[in-house]
Amino acid sequence: MGFNALGLSKPILTAIAAKGYDKPSPIQEKAIPAVLSGKDVMAAAQTGTGKTAGFTLPILELLAKGQRVHSNHVRALVLTPTRELAAQVSESIATYGQHLSLSSTVVFGGVKINPQMMKLRKGVDILVATPGRLLDLHNQNAVKFSELEILVLDEADRMLDMGFIRDIKKIIALLPKQRQNLLFSATFSPDIRALAKDLVNQPVEISVNPQNSTAKTVKQSVIPTDKKKKAKLLSFLIKENNWQQVLVFCKTKHGANRLTRDLEAQGLNAAAIHGNKSQGARTKALANFKSGDVRVLVATDIAARGLDIDQLPQVVNFELPNVSEDYVHRIGRTGRAGADGFAVSLVCADEHKLLQDIEYVIQQHIERKIETGFEPANELPPSRAIRPLKAKKPKKAKKPKQGKVEHKDGQRSAENSRGHKPKSKNPRHQGQTARQGKGKQKGSSTRKDNSGTSKQDPYSATR
Ligand code: AMP
Repeated sequence: MGFNALGLSKPILTAIAAKGYDKPSPIQEKAIPAVLSGKDVMAAAQTGTGKTAGFTLPILELLAKGQRVHSNHVRALVLTPTRELAAQVSESIATYGQHLSLSSTVVFGGVKINPQMMKLRKGVDILVATPGRLLDLHNQNAVKFSELEILVLDEADRMLDMGFIRDIKKIIALLPKQRQNLLFSATFSPDIRALAKDLVNQPVEISVNPQNSTAKTVKQSVIPTDKKKKAKLLSFLIKENNWQQVLVFCKTKHGANRLTRDLEAQGLNAAAIHGNKSQGARTKALANFKSGDVRVLVATDIAARGLDIDQLPQVVNFELPNVSEDYVHRIGRTGRAGADGFAVSLVCADEHKLLQDIEYVIQQHIERKIETGFEPANELPPSRAIRPLKAKKPKKAKKPKQGKVEHKDGQRSAENSRGHKPKSKNPRHQGQTARQGKGKQKGSSTRKDNSGTSKQDPYSATR
């Protein structure tokens, strides 16, 4: 089936053809007609399946037929968990809608709010936003929802993981009851189903990938080695295989910085992307990586979410993630939209348990290859037989902790490291902490969002 058969009009088909897409991906084949029919949609699709075009193309088509938007109003709202994903979706909308006279913009935390308020002044047809900044803008009357026709929750599972549920509920309460709802999520977990119950009305359910499956086009392998040999092994692999564009995952921001320095010392052009980097530095690193000026991009898990690099050939897990599902997201950065991709994990003996957990989640053993010269002195034990997957128990909602602020990948946020007193027995310090914990102060936020500071918010330090 070609795009022509899906009910999209000429300006959109022209933009798709210019992008070089010959045929719709499975999610697009199912989602585009469903969205065009005006029904609510619940789609299980991982990043890399073409899901963004799956909702943006029909939204553009629907909005092109409607009324002009009034000042400060929006007609379609796309909520995403991270700034990078928001920017990515917004770019797609601009590309696919280039021959239409629809307006769109993107808002997220970590950058000044005033330019965003200016952009919203005339009203926009499609607004892409992270939840916290959107609420800030709404509180300042910069955005109004009474003309809203369509709501999209993109990567809804990640939004829940990052603790955005309250913000999402607040936003939903502000929207007109009569609207079309589209919910995209990597999985339909019990938490997502609970959210969907209050959100979507008799939805068309679409699923294009089994839970936590890894893209078939990604060839995975493990290289057993020792921790201290990993940096040398990585530069060896990049040079030996002549990899020109490699995305490397580390567990921590410090680890990412250190590795970037090591790679640079080996003569490789590298840049780090993580939550302690300013939005400007992150955008620049990504642009340089895409253009080929930076050969190796070293990222932490959350920062990498939403990165969409066409035809990224190679992903390296320098360290395995603590959360096995992150492995699936990491390697989903390569082998996108049917292209071949390679994912190599450098695994030391300490990571044996993490490797087993990953193999359990993906329900397959990953092939191991020894690299001559980098053999482990501490042997990586063989993986055990794979047990069949059990359904996970739904998570209980956690009470937000006050006081200590920590990033998901284990680093202290700037708010913690600057200005905040360490816990001490000094009653004056304790009193201060208690006062800070009470109520909201002007300019401070306990909201869990990209524009605020929270335990799960990896970007808050860059506000
Ligand atoms: P997504 O899952 O939306 O993040 O998209 C993954 C990648 O697939 C992006 O780089 C898109 O540009 C690309 N893509 C989306 N739809 C198609 C298609 N029909 N044919 C080829 N590539 C596509």
